[in-house]
Amino acid sequence: MLADQKRGIHLSQVELLCKDGCGYYGNPTWDGYCSLCWRKRSRKTETNKQENGVDEKKRREKSRRSSSVMRLLWGSPSPPRQESSETPEATLKAFQSLEPGDFRGFLKVMRRPSSQRLQSQCTAFLNTIQAYHDLPIQKQSDMVQDFYQSIADHFSSLPDEQVTQMMEHIEKLIMTNLHKWVFCHDSCDDEQKDLTLQRRIKSLNWVTPQMLHVPFPKGGSDISDPYLPAITAIIEMDAKRAPQDKLSCVSRCSQNVFQALALSNNHPANADDFLSALVYVVLRANPPRLHSNLNYVIRFGLPQSLMAGESGYYFTNLSCTVAFIEKLDGPALNLTAEEFNSYMQGRTVPPRPPEGDSKKKAQENRQQLEDLKKRQESVEQGVRALREQLDQWVRCVQEQVEEVRARSTLPHLDQVQEEPDGHAGEPSLAPLRDGAAAELRPGNGEC
Ligand SMILES: [Zn+2]
Repeated sequence: MLADQKRGIHLSQVELLCKDGCGYYGNPTWDGYCSLCWRKRSRKTETNKQENGVDEKKRREKSRRSSSVMRLLWGSPSPPRQESSETPEATLKAFQSLEPGDFRGFLKVMRRPSSQRLQSQCTAFLNTIQAYHDLPIQKQSDMVQDFYQSIADHFSSLPDEQVTQMMEHIEKLIMTNLHKWVFCHDSCDDEQKDLTLQRRIKSLNWVTPQMLHVPFPKGGSDISDPYLPAITAIIEMDAKRAPQDKLSCVSRCSQNVFQALALSNNHPANADDFLSALVYVVLRANPPRLHSNLNYVIRFGLPQSLMAGESGYYFTNLSCTVAFIEKLDGPALNLTAEEFNSYMQGRTVPPRPPEGDSKKKAQENRQQLEDLKKRQESVEQGVRALREQLDQWVRCVQEQVEEVRARSTLPHLDQVQEEPDGHAGEPSLAPLRDGAAAELRPGNGEC
């Protein structure tokens, strides 16, 4: 399914689809089938086993439990029939005014008398699952999926879009309550698989984006990781309780991967770039309880959101990513088996990737800094020289002024002395003033 090529991880779009050729997305967990085909097949196998008399007692017990569950839910062994007192249209009318995704509004409407029947169905179903929470997880998953189906059938006369919106609210209501009972259930080995996957990812911490051929923006490891928002989104998945909220985290993670690819690539991102980048994101994030989360969404999510559309595409890619990480070997990273094993066991560390552009850029920056420093020094030298010249000129001017003043006081003294004779020294001042002015011009400032 996953083949290594020279440029990263390759997975054709056909390989993402259901093996039965129904056109929906398949999933490694369902052996490459979509949820519908997989359920059909697994139920067929189960029926065959039962018909062959395998574990007849167990079958009777299961069937007894199953019919009791249905009785508890619907008050009769058969699925619910539309009641005349309340048409689906009447029930849905109250829900139609809700904005998409307004779960609070949905709960409010659910408390109204017009939603009484739907509300009792949900409550009865929740009580049943809680009472039978020790049933094998697959059985509980089947019960939840049957419940979704019966609700969807109940509203089947309405437009698809409205039914989808309604079903999303129902899923959130049911699974927010059941999460603590069915997540990482005792009857399955999810917890063990989580630990194995977590250790596996940890032991692959030496894998670089270059080995995976993940497009990275120029500047390499010097700049902050553009895949960080995607890493955060995938880690957040574990904190959500409803499968659709977990799926939203997967979608947000994937959209962030595409955004990071747009920053890093000078050509539009393709499916191979996306898958490689997703592998990198999961390796960096090492998301908590990843196996359990994927299985939980597969078992209890709405089939439509996994089999088709954007969320289905992203989820299938994430499932393939986990399958790839579990099987990752030397050739997939263009390494020899010896190199791969050596890195895995921590005996050697892979050589640091060539820093190329970033190193060159750093050198250029250093050189520019040196040049700037030199220029600054020379400017400072010039300033010092200029200041000295200026000081010198000022001193020179002061000296000249003193000199002129000294000279100019002489005629005055003469005048004072000559005054009694009536000969003032007035004519002698004018040429002296002109001379002093000439000498004071900056251009003549040499002393
Ligand atoms: Zn299918």
